[in-house]
This record gives sequence, C-alpha cells and structure tokens, in this order.
Amino acid sequence: MSEKDDYKRQRKYENASPLRKRLIRRAQQANNNAHKHSVPGILTYRDLEKLFDEHKYCLLCGTSNQLTVDHVVAMSLGGHNKLDNLQVLCFKCNSRKSQITMDCRATID
Ligand SMILES: [Zn+2]
Repeated sequence: MSEKDDYKRQRKYENASPLRKRLIRRAQQANNNAHKHSVPGILTYRDLEKLFDEHKYCLLCGTSNQLTVDHVVAMSLGGHNKLDNLQVLCFKCNSRKSQITMDCRATID
C-alpha cells in the first residue's frame, strides 16, 4: 500500500456518508478481530451494505433501531468472518446474546 493509495483511501473515507463510514469502521473492526482470533474471512463495507439491505430488522425482536452486525458463531469460538456467518441483531439483543451461538436466521425464512 503506497502513501498515495493511503491518501486516496483516506479521502474516500472522508467523503463517504455517515452510514457508510459506520460500515467501513465496523468492517475494519471485524477484520481486526478476525486477525486477532486467526479466523478466515475479510469483510468490506459493501458486504455489510448488502446485509443491511436484505435485513432491515432485528432477527430476534423485530426492531429497526440500532441494528448491529452479529457473528452467528463468535470469532472467539472460531466462527468465520464471512457473510454467511453474519446476522442482523439490534444492539440490545446482540448484547444479551453475547458469546452464545444462536442462529436466528432460520426462523425468518
Ligand atoms: Zn433485537
């Protein structure tokens, strides 16, 4: 990664919408965690955009407030950092779920 690329990336980030910035940060956070736990998978903000496009409500309680990305199998337990291990939960449900493996996706199909 050259300095010029870094600069371009920084500019792109600064010009992004607040929502996109949030997704970029969330993807980076997940990728850092994946690295920390040595699990495979890299997420981009586009993956998260796709996820939130498809799921506009918390899969547990149905609210559309404070939606977060949850790893179905926590990365600390070896879960992959990939779209097929992600589900949308609200902040409250995600906090309550903590590290428990709970796949809420099956209930809505
Ligand atoms: Zn919820």
